[in-house]
Amino acid sequence: VLTALLGAAAASGLTTLILLLVEATSVLLPADTKFGIVFDAGSSHTTLFVYRWPADKENNTGVVSQALACQVKGPGISSYASNPAQAGESLQGCLEEALALIPEARRQETPMFLGATAGMRLLSQKNSSQAGDIFAAVSRVLGQAPLDFWGAELLAGQDEGALGWITINYVLGMLIKYSFSGEWIRPLEGTLVGALDMGGASTQITFVPGGPILDKSTQATFRLYGSEHRVYTHSYLCFGRDQMLTRLLARLVESSPGPLVRHPCYHSGYWTTLSPATLYESPCVHTTPPPDLAWNLTVEGTGNPGACVSAIRGLFNFSSCEGRGHCAFDGVYQPPVRGRFYAFSNFYYTFHFLNLTSKQPLATVNATVWEFCQRPWKQVEASSPGQDRRLQDYCASGLYILTLLREGYGFREETWPDIEFHKQAGGTDIGWTLGYMLNLTGVILAEAPARWRAESY
Ligand code: AMP
Repeated sequence: VLTALLGAAAASGLTTLILLLVEATSVLLPADTKFGIVFDAGSSHTTLFVYRWPADKENNTGVVSQALACQVKGPGISSYASNPAQAGESLQGCLEEALALIPEARRQETPMFLGATAGMRLLSQKNSSQAGDIFAAVSRVLGQAPLDFWGAELLAGQDEGALGWITINYVLGMLIKYSFSGEWIRPLEGTLVGALDMGGASTQITFVPGGPILDKSTQATFRLYGSEHRVYTHSYLCFGRDQMLTRLLARLVESSPGPLVRHPCYHSGYWTTLSPATLYESPCVHTTPPPDLAWNLTVEGTGNPGACVSAIRGLFNFSSCEGRGHCAFDGVYQPPVRGRFYAFSNFYYTFHFLNLTSKQPLATVNATVWEFCQRPWKQVEASSPGQDRRLQDYCASGLYILTLLREGYGFREETWPDIEFHKQAGGTDIGWTLGYMLNLTGVILAEAPARWRAESY
């Protein structure tokens, strides 16, 4: 409206009106905007996020918003082990997009971080010097940008879980509230939201349990706005979607007598060929390779959800929890799930594809995934217009998520409605990156500001 008025005023030569309008415009603009940049260097790809917030409201909860999410072209940085320099170069395009968004006067003071997750965790285990070369290469490129680069680092699985939890509760405004009567109120533990995250290589669960956390290695504690938070968090390496699919295939290859592999999670009529050597490059695969790795394998779908669930169960070690209370799988301690949960990243992508993000009951979700798995490949392809290179994997992904949530984490029919599947909250992507930036920059205060405390007396 203002632009139109300015145009009209200029056309009719009303200089005073123009000046008045320019003044009005500057009053409407946010006083002073700050920016922060985080690269999420995931196993399958890297995303750059630009966040912005009004400087005068810096320490209020929920005021930071996402200004840009730029998908870096090419694979995740861990895939550049044989050419680390390219990992750095791959970030240039998104870096330029971010710079275009940030006024020049603000750039020097804009913090920028890169955090790498499970893909780099796996590479560090396999070959730490290659991982080091990649970190050096990306740091070189980012260090040359006209921004305040704070560094590139490997995030521990526990941090990834805890930071995702902070992100959700921050964007939902759960960490501190301003009451009707003008007082700042601390959150009630029961209102805080748990986080279920699944990347390509690892998956995280984080929540505030109802009782004590008996295994302290699964506890994260932090102070936010004057409240002490104690969360249960665990990251399962090799239980991300892509690593799960690779492990599943490797198990099926191991149990196949010859070069033809029958895959129950692929739709009937689907087939593909595969060089088996690629499977055994993953440090998550521990099955015996076929005698001749040079032979190509043919993988043929049988569209059998029952057999698919059995094969998926084989990826979990449930027996290690037998006779142990409060244990999820692979011998990992976990108190009973409690409260609302937001399930994001792959949980969301898979359920969104299957149209299962509208709070359907567990029985409906299960029936829908089974019905989808039984559809012939031709029908699946025909009903999914456009290119989706993951189309053949949604059946396995859907059944895997159900197995993980029910048999792994222990969600039941009654607790299932507590899980909500989301990609975003309040226009911001949910993941660890926002929590990471807020934490490092001090935008989230450890203590409630003195002014706030004074207001509540
Ligand atoms: P990471 O790269 O570790 O963060 O993992 C991202 C995971 O999300 C990978 O398993 C990807 O295959 C998957 N993914 C990313 N975008 C989509 C999408 N639009 N639909 C389905 N899966 C996705």
